[in-house]
Amino acid sequence: MLVLVVNAGSSSLKSQLIETHGKEARMKCLAEKVGTPEATMTVAFAPDFHKATYDVAGLSVARCLEKLLDIMVSDPASPISRLDQIEAIGNRIVAGGEFFTRTTLIDDAARRNLTRCEELAPLHNPPADECIDMLRTLLPNTPQVAVFDTAFHQTMPAKAYMYPLPMRYYDEYSIRRYGAHGTSHRYAAQQAAALLERPLSDLGLITCHLGNGGSITAVNHGKSIDTTMGFTPLEGLMMGTRSGSIDPAIITYIMRREGKTFDEMDKILNNESGVLGISGIGSDMRDVLTAAENGDDRAELAIDMYVYRIQKAIGSYYAAMTRTDAVVMTAGIGENSAHLRERIFAGLAHMGMILDKERNDVTGQIGVNRIISIDDSPIKICVVTTNEEMRIACETNDLVSQIG
Ligand code: AMP
Repeated sequence: MLVLVVNAGSSSLKSQLIETHGKEARMKCLAEKVGTPEATMTVAFAPDFHKATYDVAGLSVARCLEKLLDIMVSDPASPISRLDQIEAIGNRIVAGGEFFTRTTLIDDAARRNLTRCEELAPLHNPPADECIDMLRTLLPNTPQVAVFDTAFHQTMPAKAYMYPLPMRYYDEYSIRRYGAHGTSHRYAAQQAAALLERPLSDLGLITCHLGNGGSITAVNHGKSIDTTMGFTPLEGLMMGTRSGSIDPAIITYIMRREGKTFDEMDKILNNESGVLGISGIGSDMRDVLTAAENGDDRAELAIDMYVYRIQKAIGSYYAAMTRTDAVVMTAGIGENSAHLRERIFAGLAHMGMILDKERNDVTGQIGVNRIISIDDSPIKICVVTTNEEMRIACETNDLVSQIG
């Protein structure tokens, strides 16, 4: 099935045209700084993925997508010449609230509920909804599917998803923990089950999505029972530019001391904290690791804190589950950094998670799903390669095929 994957962000658009049968991307598009005068969009077609760059200054995310569709039907390198050759559309949606517990076909009722979720992710959901509406107009007969970052975590029990705040904040504003990266955690758990050659329904897994953003999930018998991200993706681990969990009193303290506005405080916590805030170098883990190797103390502290917080999260989910069979590492850092994996698991051997240094080595192993613990490690350690666009395309394919 030829699936157009649409991943609309607050100021970006990622899109791919994917042939799900052979699991092959046929087109890749990235628009950045959308809404600003510097906005550009690159589009590349298989097989050589030579990038052409387009000026999309001032266009909204939905208008960028419209422009992409124009390019897709007019560029000779494109695999399609008519929009109706797209067989299905898979939309990534950041927040599905309590309305969506699974990947969903977007009919009129689902579309109405999507609007109700907008206030839960005011920067991300509205542009995604605009793209959906535009596509419903241009391609009225093509099924559209919504794949939610939050849906996988809708199985969390109330003791995990509730905050100890006055109840009316849950009743009136739906303030609770929703989690994120659900598509990635679900996929990592499925791939780990395949590696362990056991049914997912028998396993207790701790899945670690460690990229620019990061979250860890306790997956019991295939279901998310707890995850580190919360009401928004700011809670939990220390991330590239996000603080993760801190004492909430710090926020009001800084606001009072420095007269910060709400927006300024949001920016500090989301864009200026985490690995960037501590290291002062950047949010890219490779740069910070290089600086630490060269003796930079702040870079070393950032890595120490990053590792420690991951170790504590893994330990707390070990406690939350009745059994743990494996810890699964995925995303940019989880997949590629043998050094950070070694540091993380060096502190967890006493819990029965024992890394094999040779298997952990990445040489020739990038992109290979594998077990990297020693043979008799009581709890296995796995590495799994994630590909969000491919997952969205496959989930879209599965749902559309199911409902015919
Ligand atoms: P993602 O958000 O999944 O694309 O992951 C991005 C993060 O992965 C960035 O912080 C990168 O620096 C990091 N990353 C990618 N490759 C490596 C590597 N070989 N070693 C350490 N970090 C890496």
